[in-house]
Amino acid sequence: MTLPQPLRPELEAKAQELLARLRSEADSELLALARLLVSKEEHELFGETEFQARDIVHRIGAKAYETHLALKKNGYDGSGSICRHCQQGAKFQGYRRKAILSLLGSVACRRAYYYCGRCGHGMLPWDDRVGLTARSFTPAARATRQFGRRRER
Ligand SMILES: [Zn+2]
Repeated sequence: MTLPQPLRPELEAKAQELLARLRSEADSELLALARLLVSKEEHELFGETEFQARDIVHRIGAKAYETHLALKKNGYDGSGSICRHCQQGAKFQGYRRKAILSLLGSVACRRAYYYCGRCGHGMLPWDDRVGLTARSFTPAARATRQFGRRRER
C-alpha cells in the first residue's frame, strides 16, 4: 500500500470537516473496542474476539461512508435530467433511501431520483456512477462474493 499523497487544500478542508463530524460517531465505537479488549483474558484475546473487533472497525468504516454521503448530492444534477430511454426531459422527484451492501456492512444513504413522464422510466444516476449492482452491492462487496472470499460468521 502506497502512502497517500497530501490532498489539495480544498480537499484537505473537506477531510477535516468530515473528521470533525465523524469523531463523535466513532467515539462510542472506539469505546466499545477498548472495553472489549480490556475485558478479555489472554486465552480469549484472539479468536472470537478478533471477529468482534473487526465488526466494530467495520461499523466505524460504514459510519464514515454514511457521514460522507450525507454531505453530498448523490446524483442530483438539477431539477431536470435527460431520460436515457427516450432522450426527453426527466424531472427530479426527490431523494430515495437506500441501504447499500458494502464490504464494511450496510451503508444507509439517499440519492436523487428522476422520473420521465413521457415513457415512464425512473432513473437513479448515482447508482450507475458509483457502480452499484441491481441488488445494491458495491463493487468490492460484489467482487468478494464472486471470489467466494466472503467470511460470514
Ligand atoms: Zn423517457
